[in-house]
Order: sequence, then C-alpha cells, then structure tokens
Amino acid sequence: MKNLKCDVCNKDITTAINQRSYFHMANRDLCEACHDQMEFIVKPVVRTKQPFNYEWYDRLVRDSIEKAIAKGKWETR
Ligand SMILES: [Zn+2]
Repeated sequence: MKNLKCDVCNKDITTAINQRSYFHMANRDLCEACHDQMEFIVKPVVRTKQPFNYEWYDRLVRDSIEKAIAKGKWETR
C-alpha cells in the first residue's frame, strides 16, 4: 500500500483510508483533522459569496490548503 501522509500535518494516514478519514483535495492529501480545519476556515468565507461560484470555491480551498502547508499549520483569517 502507498505510504500516505497528510500534506499539512505530516500525520501518517495510510491505515485510515478505509475509515473515511482521508481526503484528497486540490491535489493534496488531508487527514480528517486537517479537512475539518479547512472547512472551519473556508465556510465563513463561502457564506459571504453570493452567488456561489464553484471555480472560486475550488481556488479558495486550494489557497487555504497551500497556505496551511507553507505555514505548517491552519490559520483563521
Ligand atoms: Zn493533517
């Protein structure tokens, strides 16, 4: 089995795949905790966006993930 690590927190998530605690988003691998954090950061921003735009949302998710990887942690805006 491929050795999978969360791209943000570097936690080993190889054994977690079948437990639905693994997320592949924006070409990154996220553990459940990091996915929760991402949603926590993105959701309030999404609420202010009218009308909703999927391309915009995609970019927002990617930017949030890349920022978290660069800083090594999640940061609320
Ligand atoms: Zn993680």
